[in-house]
Amino acid sequence: MSGSRPWIAERMQRIDASGIRKVFDLAATMKDPINFSIGQPHFDTPRPVKDALEKAIEEGRNAYSPTQGVGPLLRKLQERVDAEFGHADRSLFVTSGTSGGLMLALSVLLNPGDEVLFFDPYFVVYKHLTTLVGGTPIAIDTYPDFRVDIDKVRAAITDRTKVILCNSPANPTGTMLSDQDVQALARLAGERNVALISDEIYRTFCYDRPFVSPAHYNERTLVIDGFSKSHSMTGLRLGYAHGPAEVIQQMIKLQQFTFVCAPQPVQWAGIAACDVDVSDRVAAYRQNRDFMVQELSGLYELAPADGAFYLFAKAPWGTASEFVVEAIRNNLLIIPGNVFSSRDTHFRISYAAELPILERGVEVLKKLARR
Ligand code: PMP
Repeated sequence: MSGSRPWIAERMQRIDASGIRKVFDLAATMKDPINFSIGQPHFDTPRPVKDALEKAIEEGRNAYSPTQGVGPLLRKLQERVDAEFGHADRSLFVTSGTSGGLMLALSVLLNPGDEVLFFDPYFVVYKHLTTLVGGTPIAIDTYPDFRVDIDKVRAAITDRTKVILCNSPANPTGTMLSDQDVQALARLAGERNVALISDEIYRTFCYDRPFVSPAHYNERTLVIDGFSKSHSMTGLRLGYAHGPAEVIQQMIKLQQFTFVCAPQPVQWAGIAACDVDVSDRVAAYRQNRDFMVQELSGLYELAPADGAFYLFAKAPWGTASEFVVEAIRNNLLIIPGNVFSSRDTHFRISYAAELPILERGVEVLKKLARR
């Protein structure tokens, strides 16, 4: 054994977090920034959720729970899912955030070298988790309109394609798949015997038309969902996954030896969250979306802003990274698209903020567009 043998595994070299780190290094130099970089709701966790969490902790529900989750939460979520889909084979379990569900899903589905198709721009985790578990990430370009071209997807499927990962409404674009594309993607995955994973974490935030899950058109779709965004619970780590029992059973088996369970008190709080109406929050984000689109669409080319709380805008000059450096010099924190993409042409705005902050940011963006 060589004394210089590196301790760090090679797989970590394939995970590159430098893009976002550069942004946050720059951000650290800012005083009171106008922060459009935040990937979580600005609302606090709803009162009933906090109360239920406190009660669970006080009552001593702080031990391990069953791996798959506490019975009352499982039953509540399963009822909702059954009411929506009515599938004979749709099991559910509780995960440690949506990220936990994604990690388990890719771990149980991928053999080394198996390909995972997803859409560029993408939520960065898709690429890195795929790599981590030995899969090969294949990003399908969706510029300039950020719609899914089903022929491109069909052409990208090879003998090694194991998973298609979709996310609608999407991070970082805020764009939703059209109902037609959802259907086409679901059917294509079914025909080609490719597992379809649908990351539905933003399903609550759809502003112009109702959310439609691909699981409606493909019963074997594996859905990953969670409370982080819908109920402002990002730090509480509560998610769930539902799909064919064969897959869910394997995910539960792996959860037992990794995450063990979602935090138990948070699971009890999740029961309360299921009964909290968040429609006022969704309405507030719709208003924010309308304001931002109205203010910026004449100056910036914007991806269709259908949902979530993001705008994806084309940099009016230079690369997106150059534009972001200039924005940061002007005290505005935004994220360059190359953090989520092979292209460096666009930047992400999060409009999860109070209106006066949005107004300040818009002023800076107007000035930068006219440069
Ligand atoms: N999927 C998408 C598309 C996301 O944007 C995020 C959070 N940024 C997650 C999953 C992970 O969420 P969680 O906090 O539930 O792990």
